[in-house]
Amino acid sequence: MILFADFHTHTIYSHGRGTVRENVYSAVKKGLKAVGISEHGPNNIGVGTNIRDFEKIKKEIEELKKEIKGIDILFGCEANVISLEGDLDIPEELLNEMDYVMVGLHPQIWGKSLKDTYHLLIENYIAKKLPSRLTKVMEQNTRALINAIERYKVDIITHPGLHMPIDTKILAKKAAEKGTALEINAGHNHTTVNYIKIAKEQGVKFAIGSDAHEPDRVGDLKQAIKLAQKAGLTKEDIINAL
Ligand SMILES: [Zn+2]
Ligand SMILES: [Zn+2]
Repeated sequence: MILFADFHTHTIYSHGRGTVRENVYSAVKKGLKAVGISEHGPNNIGVGTNIRDFEKIKKEIEELKKEIKGIDILFGCEANVISLEGDLDIPEELLNEMDYVMVGLHPQIWGKSLKDTYHLLIENYIAKKLPSRLTKVMEQNTRALINAIERYKVDIITHPGLHMPIDTKILAKKAAEKGTALEINAGHNHTTVNYIKIAKEQGVKFAIGSDAHEPDRVGDLKQAIKLAQKAGLTKEDIINAL
């Protein structure tokens, strides 16, 4: 299986180590035909990307497009879901300027309100210590993601289930309906064959992303490809497969 794109890369605009330029050059070196810059939304505590910086990223990409041929350089994001109602931390006008939109749940975010911070940050933390709370938290997390894909045009949900439990079957069913792909994340090693199989049964598509936080790791997708194949996926199931 050959992947032509890596949609999930971070830069120094959040907590990545490389610049936009370095990520793109690394993608060229790996032979990718497309690479996306997908910075965190601003609500990640301590590492979020300033909304104003997204305009700078867009400009840098425009400049690089003139300089580098043979690769599509895409302006994207990894927005945070910041309420159970599915609010995102990047304004819709900015999302509309992007080539694609990814959203994810992260455990260390500021919610839209104190109540949302409680549901998304504190309750997830509590559920790790008190398994009896897991069902409620899983239901809430899943609902937050589903509301986000109902309200916004979302291309990919990043690392479903990482640090924050979700109901794969329910999420995958809704994602299939909305044309949103679920990510198989090559960076965190949390994805299981079982998760992929359950999701595939719902008819959802997948995207394999490196979640690179340093240029060398851009396009580093081998392990995730192996996992996808082990779960029985073919190139038709994966939006960035040739
Ligand atoms: Zn993430
Ligand atoms: Zn990421």
